[in-house]
Amino acid sequence: MLGNLTQEDVESILKTEVLGRIGCHANGRTYVVPVTYVYDGERVICHSGRGDLIRMMRANPDVCFEVEQIENLANWRSVVAEGQFEELEGSDATSAAELLVDRLMPLMASATATPQSMTPHGMTTDSVIYSILLGKKSGRYESP
Ligand SMILES: Cc1cc2nc3c(=O)[nH]c(=O)nc-3n(C[C@H](O)[C@H](O)[C@H](O)COP(=O)(O)OP(=O)(O)OC[C@H]3O[C@@H](n4cnc5c(N)ncnc54)[C@H](O)[C@@H]3O)c2cc1C
Repeated sequence: MLGNLTQEDVESILKTEVLGRIGCHANGRTYVVPVTYVYDGERVICHSGRGDLIRMMRANPDVCFEVEQIENLANWRSVVAEGQFEELEGSDATSAAELLVDRLMPLMASATATPQSMTPHGMTTDSVIYSILLGKKSGRYESP
C-alpha cells in the first residue's frame, strides 16, 4: 500500500535519521550530495568542506532535502522538504556544531576511534557549518 505520511511521522523521521541528501541547483548545474545532519525541529544542521556543494548553495540558497527509512523495497518511508540554506558563523556556528557532535559522536564509536579523533565525517575547523530551514515537507510510504 502506498500513502502519505502524517506530519507527525514526517517530524519523527527527520528527528530519528542522521543521513539525508541535499539537492541544489546553481549556474545551470544540478547536484545531489549525501550528508549527515541533526534536526532541531525547524532546521537541519550540517557541516561540509568548501567544495562544490557549499559554492552552489551560496549561489542559490533554495535547496531540497530528502531523508528515507528503508526496510525493503516494499516497505519504506521518505520525506522530501523544501529548504533555505544559511551559513552559520560565530556563536551560532559553535552551538550548531555542538548539536551535530552530540548527535553523531555516539554513532561513530569504534575500536580504533578515540574521543579526540572522533568528529562527524571529518569535520575540521575549516568546515562550513550551516542550517537548512525547512519549509514545505511531504512524506510518502509503502507498506506490505
Ligand atoms: C553516508 C555519507 C555521509 C556523508 N556525510 C557528510 C557530511 O556530513 N559532511 C560532508 O562534508 N560530507 C559528507 N559526506 C561526503 C559528501 O557526500 C561529499 O562527498 C563531500 O561533502 C564533498 O562534497 P563537495 O560538493 O564539497 O565535493 P567536492 O570535493 O567539491 O567534489 C568535487 C566533485 O566530486 C564529486 N563528488 C563529491 N562528493 C561525492 C560523493 N559523495 N560521491 C560521488 N561523487 C562525489 C562530484 O562530482 C563533485 O562535483 C558523506 C558521504 C556519505 C556517503
